[in-house]
Amino acid sequence: MNNTLSIVGSGFSSLAAASYLARSGYDVTIFEKNDTVGGRARQLKKGGFVFDIGPTWYWMPDVFERFFADFNKKPSDYYSLEKLNPAYNVYFDKLDYISIEDSLEKICETFESIETGSASKLKKFIGNAEDNYDIAIKDLVYRPGVSALELITPQTMRKLGLFLDTIKKTVRREFKNERLVSILEFPVLFLGAKPGDTPAFYNFMNFADFGIGTFHPKNGMYSVIEGMRTLAEDLGVTIKTNSPVERIEVEGKHAIGIWANGEFFPSDIVLSGADYHHSETLLAPKHRAYSEQFWEKKTFAPSSLLFYVGFNKQLENVVHHTLFFDVDFDIHAQAIYDDPEWPKEPLFYASFPSKTDDNAAPTGCEAGIFLIPLAPGIKDTPEVREQYFDIIMNRFQRLTDQDVTKNIIFKESFCVNDFVKDYNSYKGNAYGMANTLLQTAFLRPKLKSKKVKNLYFTGQLTVPGPGVPPSLISGKLAAELINKHHPLP
Ligand SMILES: Cc1cc2nc3c(=O)[nH]c(=O)nc-3n(C[C@H](O)[C@H](O)[C@H](O)COP(=O)(O)OP(=O)(O)OC[C@H]3O[C@@H](n4cnc5c(N)ncnc54)[C@H](O)[C@@H]3O)c2cc1C
Repeated sequence: MNNTLSIVGSGFSSLAAASYLARSGYDVTIFEKNDTVGGRARQLKKGGFVFDIGPTWYWMPDVFERFFADFNKKPSDYYSLEKLNPAYNVYFDKLDYISIEDSLEKICETFESIETGSASKLKKFIGNAEDNYDIAIKDLVYRPGVSALELITPQTMRKLGLFLDTIKKTVRREFKNERLVSILEFPVLFLGAKPGDTPAFYNFMNFADFGIGTFHPKNGMYSVIEGMRTLAEDLGVTIKTNSPVERIEVEGKHAIGIWANGEFFPSDIVLSGADYHHSETLLAPKHRAYSEQFWEKKTFAPSSLLFYVGFNKQLENVVHHTLFFDVDFDIHAQAIYDDPEWPKEPLFYASFPSKTDDNAAPTGCEAGIFLIPLAPGIKDTPEVREQYFDIIMNRFQRLTDQDVTKNIIFKESFCVNDFVKDYNSYKGNAYGMANTLLQTAFLRPKLKSKKVKNLYFTGQLTVPGPGVPPSLISGKLAAELINKHHPLP
């Protein structure tokens, strides 16, 4: 039977695809270059502290439920979830922050206390966002991006204006207070582009934020990876770690297998969940569908400078997710998208999983993750990392009114060079290719190779886009295309 299928990489998209394809009867092997699975969602353990290296926000729980339900399972069969309250705090000045709580009612009260009349506007705005969520996340994102016609439905025709308008304009039309505006623009960061370049239709992210809420899987996002690994292995998937794929071998117009650690693995189908650009470099140039110029012209989601810090005391005035928006995001965004350079005054995000999860740090200690979004491809040196650590620590101490630097037991950093080295990431991007209007759905790099008949791609550079929920969906879409074009008897 021609059912041998090799998958490059073990991120969310690859693990999802592997389970669907194993269930269809494929003999699936995952080849992962690193020593653990999970890709960008790997875990760092040190001195009793546990950090998620990449994603920390569990949004859109319905997408995870739908994934596991496809296998007659539930997320709770693999990990437990807690809804965070507050979902997050946003600092604007010293001890001056806004708490986003765990229900729309409470968030409306907060908005009203800051801008009179904003509660009713927010209810309407989120109602519209929910409508878009139902159209996008329950339907459109599950279409494979093969043709523009996929986007033409009675629902989207009613919403045409929202594809031409931007998040920035629609938010500013309704809300005047700069703090509220920046909170409503924040979810767009997950899509990888500026609010001014993101279609207003994407306000479904605001429904994910305010309407559904923020969850924490016990032991961190890595517990989701572990659950997906268990599911895949139970379905018969073989996982080979420490197995970097060096080449995808093609004969005529067919992939015939892959090379890993100098060994040839014959394959009837090849699927790559590694970064799309890198995956194509595993092919001879004549088999690549996209040129270097193509990638050069695309808007990539930011890279990031991250610090994983072990503190020997519990920190004050912070919650599980804490954002520091005390500087102008427009100026920082210019340094990411328009004139790539290290931001003079960076916005940053901090996560303290030990605030809600006992397993994240030893008793009496705090685990801290700090993230600064950066332009992909920017020069990354040990000196500049140190310089930015000092910048954000000084700001952090001032804004939260406490001394913490003396309490640091250790810190690890991760930046552009590590994204390239660890994940073969194009220019060290952290979360793929942005969802702008011209990089949406059928306009994104294709799931099915245009040049090699039995080669497929999945992950955050293809359809539907960046983020954990879209990566799960991407794996499902790639598997469906493979099943459609190469049905097993
Ligand atoms: C710092 C950070 C924070 C984020 N925060 C969030 C968040 O809070 N919420 C959210 O939803 N999303 C978040 N994201 C985005 C989310 O993590 C990603 O969209 C998702 O994990 C991508 O999954 P993937 O399957 O596309 O790719 P990846 O996770 O990148 O997996 C690709 C895999 O391919 C492997 N690989 C590469 N080359 C080879 C090769 N030649 N041979 C074998 N293996 C290879 C890599 O090692 C990697 O394991 C964040 C990402 C980062 C980096």
